[in-house]
Amino acid sequence: MQYLLQNKRVAIIGGGPVGLTMAKLLQQKGVDVTVYERDYDAQTRIWGGTLDLHKISGQKALEKAGLLESYYATAIPMGIIFADEQGNTLHTRKPTPENRHDNPEINRNQLRKILLDSLTPDTVVWDRKLTNLEEHNGKWLLQFENQPDATADFVIVANGGMSKVRSYVTDTEIEETGSFIIQGDIPQPEINCPEMYHLCDGSRLMTSNQGSLFVANPYNNGSLTYGLIIQKPEEWDHNHGLDFQNKDRVIEFLSNRLPNWGEPFQQVFQSTSFFVGLPTRKLPLHTWKQNRPLPITLIGDAAHLMPPFAGQGVNIGLVDALTLSENLTEGNFETIDAAIKDYEEKMMAYATEAQLESATNEAEMHDPEFSFLQFFE
Ligand SMILES: Cc1cc2nc3c(=O)[nH]c(=O)nc-3n(C[C@H](O)[C@H](O)[C@H](O)COP(=O)(O)OP(=O)(O)OC[C@H]3O[C@@H](n4cnc5c(N)ncnc54)[C@H](O)[C@@H]3O)c2cc1C
Repeated sequence: MQYLLQNKRVAIIGGGPVGLTMAKLLQQKGVDVTVYERDYDAQTRIWGGTLDLHKISGQKALEKAGLLESYYATAIPMGIIFADEQGNTLHTRKPTPENRHDNPEINRNQLRKILLDSLTPDTVVWDRKLTNLEEHNGKWLLQFENQPDATADFVIVANGGMSKVRSYVTDTEIEETGSFIIQGDIPQPEINCPEMYHLCDGSRLMTSNQGSLFVANPYNNGSLTYGLIIQKPEEWDHNHGLDFQNKDRVIEFLSNRLPNWGEPFQQVFQSTSFFVGLPTRKLPLHTWKQNRPLPITLIGDAAHLMPPFAGQGVNIGLVDALTLSENLTEGNFETIDAAIKDYEEKMMAYATEAQLESATNEAEMHDPEFSFLQFFE
């Protein structure tokens, strides 16, 4: 069977975990692939909590990429401490030798490094923020902010949930799902928020009280990172939201919102060096356009953004990379379009299921009676 991508230039937009894994899976089959990433360079810090790759999904893609052992060597198997809002430990679940590879936690930059180190030099072109994509003389013309154009035969869009270039594939708009996550970062937590650091005792910590949820990881590459999940206040819909650059205002909001939460939490809020606030969003999955001018598809959050309440986002994205790369390189399809179509049909099914799981969990989590402890039983 003719190798589908022979003499074809593949462009991947976005060097997140999904785009880079896709690049690796294609490159190891000899495909000419380039990743265009808007970050300035490989050292750019990626904000956000750690990621955990699941055995039946994300880890399968890394295994195929020959990177599973590197992931195990870098990621940290972590238990969970369930605590109440006063900082009393309710229950502890420690990792065991049997389950330590189930879903160890990895810092986002460390995962990026593993993937980058596995690619040939210059596979990723940094400082390339795609601003426009159009068909030109039978090829895709890629245009970037303040940088020269590039061309490709096939574009794989992997630039995350807020992707603007996915309009060649779908006109569906993203929707908010009602929750809001306040994400915080505390460098040197053993010094800056010692009570929480010691309470965590090397595990992730989870606390739920009256529909507000707090999840912390003390080992995110030298920082403690946490997310506070609340229902989005109604007045924030009318442009009266918080300015998350204004640290003092965010700390004031948190203290007013959670006045009864104990000292370890108040210390965490006070010592946060960096806040990000984001409404949770999803991209509803409807039938995608069939009449595309040239080969193009979506993978990862660009394809199926969902709130992180099922821990599936990156895992499902890595399954996209695995499925699409196999379709394109293992000789089972006559054309690139047929390989894409089959991938999209499969993806719609498993990603819809993951979105439903996330939505069910989200509804449950805001019940005032919700308890993390019961949820994980
Ligand atoms: C608070 C929070 C917690 C989460 N927790 C979990 C979890 O525990 N488990 C889980 O599985 N998932 C979790 N997720 C979801 C997870 O982060 C995503 O599913 C995952 O990062 C998707 O990977 P991706 O490569 O598709 O997109 P991204 O990680 O968003 O990467 C996209 C890349 O594209 C680049 N880019 C964007 N626009 C352009 C452009 N115009 N031109 C060029 N490059 C561009 C970006 O710089 C970025 O590097 C969480 C998400 C959030 C917000």
